Amino acid sequence: MTIPVPPTTPPFEPRKPDLIVLRDPAEAPPPLVDSFQRRITYLRLSVTDRCDLRCSYCMPERMTFLPKKDVLTLEELYDLATGFIARGVTKIRITGGEPLVRRDIIDLFTALGRRLGHDLAELTLTTNGTQLAEHAEALAKAGVRRVNVSLDTLDRAKFAALTRRDMLPQVLEGIAAAKAAELKVKLNAVALKGVNEHELPDLIAWGHAQGHDVTLIEVMPLGDVEEERLDQYLPLDNVQHELERRWTLKPLAFSTGGPARYVEVAETGGRLGLITPHTNNFCASCNRMRVTATGQLYPCLGGGEQVDLRAALRSDNPEANLAAALDEALRIKPEKHHFRMDARGADPALTRHMSMTGG
Ligand code: SAM
Ligand code: SF4
Repeated sequence: MTIPVPPTTPPFEPRKPDLIVLRDPAEAPPPLVDSFQRRITYLRLSVTDRCDLRCSYCMPERMTFLPKKDVLTLEELYDLATGFIARGVTKIRITGGEPLVRRDIIDLFTALGRRLGHDLAELTLTTNGTQLAEHAEALAKAGVRRVNVSLDTLDRAKFAALTRRDMLPQVLEGIAAAKAAELKVKLNAVALKGVNEHELPDLIAWGHAQGHDVTLIEVMPLGDVEEERLDQYLPLDNVQHELERRWTLKPLAFSTGGPARYVEVAETGGRLGLITPHTNNFCASCNRMRVTATGQLYPCLGGGEQVDLRAALRSDNPEANLAAALDEALRIKPEKHHFRMDARGADPALTRHMSMTGG
């Protein structure tokens, strides 16, 4: 027996309507559980590898982007998301590259948003904020409630140098628009040695004063950039010690199910997340998978394992082939990542950039 999908007719025609059928629970396909008994309920879906910034830790100035024909259409992205939802994914984060530079991307949010409250619990995005002023209201209308905005510095000249584009005013405008649209904003900052190292307390204080959570991230060795990774790497333990000289940090039990551990800054009353892939491995509770804009599934951000979902989607039996591809991804998802960043250098020298895998 099949139950028709809730009133979710997307603004674009789904390419394969057979993929958007909700099944009776008795007939439902099995949930996504990997060989280490971790249940996958969270999909990070990249919708483009393109971006209007060139953050120096993420990509080189002369980045080569993928040919557009290789990138999944909005219909295919919707079908793919549907395939994951059918296997028990309840949270989807749209990412990139910069998701808001993709033309008509709001249509995908609108289509997926119609599933919220039915078979999808949360739809979010990670953005650099440059286009947020234009899209914040539409995102809220589509059902998005929380957005992550990447912001590494509040200093305009430093922002321009770091991202190679002078767009801090647009980002701040975007953050304000998100707040006005009642989106809960979390600011993400990559801690960079000698770049924003001494500014982090001010960035945290500013974010908390605006009512936003702030999360700090250690830089990861993903893709070739023009700088040496080790020169960028600032262990968050060092940052935390510095912050503790100024503030009282109270550990919180709060978790979003993700890799961050949280503290409350007593003096600001705000929440601070710390993502430390190098100094604190968080893989045992991993609940996520990442898919690139070309439909390549990476079961682990820090590994080379890969499964081609686009081939499955474009085959003559997409439903069965997608299910088989997901089973393969579960089989090969590694127990943990093998990032290493120490005096000997940075490993693995993964050739993929974060903008491709989807941060
Ligand atoms: N363009 C959007 C943005 O910047 O938020 C979404 C994609 S971006 C790849 C997602 C996140 O990855 C951003 O917070 C960015 O700072 C982070 N990021 C990019 N390259 C990184 C790296 N090598 N190590 C750690 N974080 C990285
Ligand atoms: Fe673009 Fe995000 Fe990468 Fe910066 S981190 S270059 S904003 S994809």
